[in-house]
Amino acid sequence: RGEPDALRAWAEIDLAALRANVRSLRARAAGAEVMAVVKADAYGHGMIPCARAAREAGATWLGTATPDEALALRAAGVDGPVLCWLWTPGGPWREAVEAEIDISVSARWALEEVVAAARAAGRMARVQLKADTGLGRNGCQPADWPELTAAARAAERDGLIRVTGVWSHFACADEPGHPSIAAQLTAYRQALATAEAVGLRPEVRHLANSPATLTLPESHFDLVRTGVAMYGISPVPQLGSPADYGLRPVMSLVAKLASVKRVPGGHGVSYGHLYTTPGETTLGLVPLGYADGIPRHASGTGPVLVAGKWRTVAGRVAMDQFVVDLGGDAAEVGDRAVLFGPGDQGEPTAEDWARAAGTIAYEIVTRIGARVPRVYT
Ligand code: PLP
Repeated sequence: RGEPDALRAWAEIDLAALRANVRSLRARAAGAEVMAVVKADAYGHGMIPCARAAREAGATWLGTATPDEALALRAAGVDGPVLCWLWTPGGPWREAVEAEIDISVSARWALEEVVAAARAAGRMARVQLKADTGLGRNGCQPADWPELTAAARAAERDGLIRVTGVWSHFACADEPGHPSIAAQLTAYRQALATAEAVGLRPEVRHLANSPATLTLPESHFDLVRTGVAMYGISPVPQLGSPADYGLRPVMSLVAKLASVKRVPGGHGVSYGHLYTTPGETTLGLVPLGYADGIPRHASGTGPVLVAGKWRTVAGRVAMDQFVVDLGGDAAEVGDRAVLFGPGDQGEPTAEDWARAAGTIAYEIVTRIGARVPRVYT
């Protein structure tokens, strides 16, 4: 793709930081294995390079939402344990069985679809049963759990499936002390006991996402599923920064000023003229917009480091560009505009953008668009 300097804008992905984050999470989850959650193109960081780096650093499992993501890992030559958990009827379950991908199952009818795929493939399907312990999203309700686990055990006895895991997911792990956390732990232990009572012997029992990995050791069981923390973002920013948890942000978003010009006072800027220059000033044009994932909600609030100072998005974020007011400071076309990075060179962080846009840092990095090349360092 050429050198970063030839690019309009790019996302620098620091794979050494990602590896260090995985090692740090492994140490924190001492005794449990680490699943690197690489769904959604590794939260915008690039699935294949991140999956490989995570594996190198000792993440034994990989996690995706869709089966297509898991199959893309296999197509790229990534082997070893992979779990996909977003069930859709008629999904590529036979291909997933053939590729030895663990398939999450939350309902009896889904189990039957996987069993049919196993028959068609002529090999045993790897299944992980998911209990709804209180998230109310995916997962099997407690009332249906005895039937699902018994049916899975019967399919296991028939040699059609192997139940490799029993698992669940937290609703409020990012709010330590929330009463639902203890309730979900209890419900999960009950779900495990029921599964064991029908004779299931899962290899991995898992419940914890990033916030639980960092704040709730009793939730670690055999495996922790870490996404955002692996990308160096604090899942509990109200409690601590990435550095406080031994993590370093992996993505930096950088652009080059595409225009620098003097304008008089009273000049309206960008659609709707939400910003008007207070006096004669210099405007810099940052060639990134909402098509690249820059939140339009950060119009007038998003921070950018240009020429040594934080600037604020002046007026609206447009589809492909936004403007910053550089005041009297000297700047040239091609100068760097750093939207976010680790924060130790004076630049804002993804968390700063999340605050500016009224969202979470997960969304900031995940939405960086396909038009922005990822440059791996
Ligand atoms: N487990 C499941 C089922 C998920 O859907 C996700 C992501 O939302 C994760 C784990 C990872 O969450 P986090 O990024 O908070 O670690």
